[in-house]
Amino acid sequence: MPQDKNRDLLIYGPCAAESLTQVLVSGQEAVRRGIPIVRSSLIKPRTRPGWDGVGITTGGPWLAESANLNGIIPATEVLDGAQAAYLINEIARLCPNPLINFWIGSRNQVHSHQREIGEAVRGVSWAKVGIKNPMGRDDDHWLGAIEHVVEGGADPSQLFLIHRGYKPARWGQRNPPSLNSAKYVRERSQLPLILDPSHMGGEVNKVILLTRYFLWLHILRILEIDGLMLEIHPNPEKALTDRHQQLSWVVYDAKLAHLVDKAFPI
Ligand code: PEP
Ligand code: MN
Repeated sequence: MPQDKNRDLLIYGPCAAESLTQVLVSGQEAVRRGIPIVRSSLIKPRTRPGWDGVGITTGGPWLAESANLNGIIPATEVLDGAQAAYLINEIARLCPNPLINFWIGSRNQVHSHQREIGEAVRGVSWAKVGIKNPMGRDDDHWLGAIEHVVEGGADPSQLFLIHRGYKPARWGQRNPPSLNSAKYVRERSQLPLILDPSHMGGEVNKVILLTRYFLWLHILRILEIDGLMLEIHPNPEKALTDRHQQLSWVVYDAKLAHLVDKAFPI
């Protein structure tokens, strides 16, 4: 799919990859709407033990297949450098036009792992890394994670920020945002910033309200952002993780597509 500068950091897709079919359908639905990047976690860090993903050896080829069939860029969380290196090899081996986005999740505050992820993407210009803020608000920890990834070997041009809100839950939101924090870290790091209303809201209705709010801030140039990460599942009621916050594509079309297209024109 041709990359449109306006939309090159729109990242939609399920919380977790659950089957090859679910990954392929997600890619197909995304492409139909001009969304270039499709997320799905292969390994889920869990607050409390539970189903923790299909794993990278099973899921890696699924991401490659969706990239090849749908022309999307797959995005997935990596916990350490070995996972990033493994997936880079898999994508390079299986995709004629290799592209991948990783992200470092909010629970991943191990500096040696952050550095190793930086090392894994060193010189791999087609691998990008989104850095989520930590669970609790601490701007230095967020900035520190960026610095560790860069010290490990990533080029800043490979990086972007993902604000997913902070604990504690408040106002009925799972992880309320702090736009001041996001603006501060963006200013200090000079990296593109995207917002993840799914993990902020925690429930479909709140995700929709937050997304609309952010899109209007962007349209009115009160807070210009570079994209969005949204959890969208082909069948949210059956999702194995984050069931309450994942939108269906039908709900996305009815409630958000119009405003997203206004904010980030195709
Ligand atoms: C996710 O993106 O599915 C996720 C677990 O995010 P976070 O690290 O923001 O909780
Ligand atoms: Mn999730």
